[in-house]
Amino acid sequence: MIHKEKTLVIIKPDGVQRTLIGEIIRRYERVGLKLIGLKMIVPTLEQAKAHYLVNPDFPKNVGNKTKKAYEAEGKEFPFPSVEEFGLGILHKNAQYFSSGPVVVMAWQGLGAVGLVRKITGGTEPINSDVGTIRGDFTLDSYAMADTSERSIRNLVHASGSIEEADKELALWFTKEELLNYRLIADEILYDVNLDGILE
Ligand code: GDP
Ligand code: MG
Repeated sequence: MIHKEKTLVIIKPDGVQRTLIGEIIRRYERVGLKLIGLKMIVPTLEQAKAHYLVNPDFPKNVGNKTKKAYEAEGKEFPFPSVEEFGLGILHKNAQYFSSGPVVVMAWQGLGAVGLVRKITGGTEPINSDVGTIRGDFTLDSYAMADTSERSIRNLVHASGSIEEADKELALWFTKEELLNYRLIADEILYDVNLDGILE
C-alpha cells in the first residue's frame, strides 16, 4: 500500500548525550509517521561498520560529496584521494556510532524515506535548513570535524533511499520487531472518506 514505506532512523550518541531523544521522536511523530520499531542499544564496532557498508560505495560517495563541499567554499580538498578519505570517515563513523547508547527506530508512512530526510536536514549541520533537526539543534561543520579528525556530529542517521532503508532495517531489526498495527490517526491521514463525523 502507498503509505507502507518504511525507513530507519538512529539517534546517534551525540543526540542521546544532548538529551534530545524526546524532541527528535516528536518531530517524526507529529508529521504523521508511525513508529513501528524502537530500541536503545550500544552498537558494537562491527555492527557500526556493517551499517555504513550496507552501501559498498559509501567510502567513494562520501569522499566525493566532501570534495564538492570543499570546492563550493573555494577551498582545496586537503586529502590525498577521495577513497582514502572515505575509508577514514567510515572508520571514524564506526567509532562514533559505537561510543555509547543510540536509539534505533523504524518509521512508516507515505513517502517515509524522503519525508524523514526532509525533517532530518542536510548532512552538515552548519548548512542544514532551519526547521530541520540537524539545522535546529546543532552546529558542526565538515571543516571542524576534519580538523579534529572525527566524524561530523549531526545527531541522527536517516536512510538515504528505499533500497538503503530495506537493507538497514534488516540489519538492525528482526521481522518480529517491526510491528504491524493500525493507528486511529491513520484514518484522518489516509482515508479520504469523512462521512459519519457529523452527528
Ligand atoms: P547522511 O546520509 O546525511 O548522514 O550523510 P552520508 O551518508 O553521506 O554520511 C554518513 C555520515 O558520515 C554523516 O552523517 C556524518 O556523520 C559522516 N560524514 C559524512 N561526510 C563527512 C565528512 O566529509 N567529514 C566528516 N568528518 N564526517 C562526514
Ligand atoms: Mg547516508
